[in-house]
Amino acid sequence: MTIVSKGLIVGGGIAGLSSAIALQQAGVQCDVAEIGDLRPVGAGIGLAGRAPDALDELGVYDQVVATGQLGLGRPVMYDAAGGVLSAAPPPDDIPGAREPIGGYRPALAEILVKRATELGARVETGMSIESIVDTADATVVTMTDGEVRSYDFVIGADGINSRTRSLAFPDAPEVRYAGQMSIRWVFPSDPVDGEGWYISGEMGRMAFYHQPYPNAMYCPMVLNLPRTKMSQQEAYEFVKRFLDTYTAPAIVELRKHLTPESELIVRPFDWMLMGKPWHRGRTLLIGDAAHATTAHMGMGGGMALEDGVVLAQCVTTAASLEEAYETFFDRRFERVKTVVETSVTLSEREQQNLPPGPENGRLMGRAMGVLAQPY
Ligand SMILES: Cc1cc2nc3c(=O)[nH]c(=O)nc-3n(C[C@H](O)[C@H](O)[C@H](O)COP(=O)(O)OP(=O)(O)OC[C@H]3O[C@@H](n4cnc5c(N)ncnc54)[C@H](O)[C@@H]3O)c2cc1C
Repeated sequence: MTIVSKGLIVGGGIAGLSSAIALQQAGVQCDVAEIGDLRPVGAGIGLAGRAPDALDELGVYDQVVATGQLGLGRPVMYDAAGGVLSAAPPPDDIPGAREPIGGYRPALAEILVKRATELGARVETGMSIESIVDTADATVVTMTDGEVRSYDFVIGADGINSRTRSLAFPDAPEVRYAGQMSIRWVFPSDPVDGEGWYISGEMGRMAFYHQPYPNAMYCPMVLNLPRTKMSQQEAYEFVKRFLDTYTAPAIVELRKHLTPESELIVRPFDWMLMGKPWHRGRTLLIGDAAHATTAHMGMGGGMALEDGVVLAQCVTTAASLEEAYETFFDRRFERVKTVVETSVTLSEREQQNLPPGPENGRLMGRAMGVLAQPY
């Protein structure tokens, strides 16, 4: 028998759903309260390191592979005209780990929700929490619809601007802007020749990848800009100007697909790393709520998947909730710290216009060495 039987998970993103699945698999009943409608943005997601192993433990590996592709390609940086600036060998395989997956976020979310629900998790949308109060043997949560519920534990998996964190840790470190904005452009398309790693431009860099499912082009852009909110029209004007700085034939071809109605997802690269502890009483933070960073390693989602799997392992082997939470922190901190710090350093180097040469390779290699260890 596990030390807990019923918990609330706040947030139905990658961390929330992976922990719901893993805990349900371990016999713990989970409610997931998701503030939104669980329709994630249509972007791609790379799942590398041991993230595919975590997908396997969650019982969804084959389904995720079926909606994505195996392998993330060779890291090559091109100039705005399409010439090669730098090329690194493909990252070393991690012994015993599965191949990285180039996935599609909405498909991943759909698969995780379906799996969690099939295992018995109750996933509610348009729902959040107002307050959390621990009593001697339970935690009492007031939901945003006014209902008062009693649980054995609460998991805050509500992302970088976590409400759970602000309730449980009013003294948590501030979220900081890394100095770069991300714009992701997705549109229905067949493959375009020249697909590869990043193409450096005057205002930042961009890449493009074809996603076989759902036959779409995914173009992530990383831009050195002040933190800014952009309307759809502003984002369109900006991307139009940005693409006009390229003469690489593939980008000129892609540029023809940009319209004022194009799907453009604008996000700041913010980051935050909580030190010890990640729990207060019966409430624990996981995923971006505890450790968020830029996408320079493309590992935040992988860390969120691992968090879910490891949390369930800790809950099923510990003698108390306190011990489970302590062990969880000890097993997770070094890995996520490596991802947060390496990503922020890579972002800083990029903003200083340092060449993406051997030093970036060394930083990535060191970080991947840590992530190669079992989680
Ligand atoms: C541009 C970009 C590209 C990235 N690319 C990659 C990549 O290729 N590979 C990779 O591994 N990682 C990538 N990441 C990182 C990855 O997206 C995150 O680390 C991951 O989504 C974190 O998962 P999470 O569940 O902790 O948080 P989130 O994905 O933010 O999910 C949090 C969930 O909680 C919900 N929520 C928020 N507030 C509340 C509330 N008050 N009550 C209830 N619910 C709430 C949200 O609606 C959301 O569904 C990228 C990040 C960015 C910004």
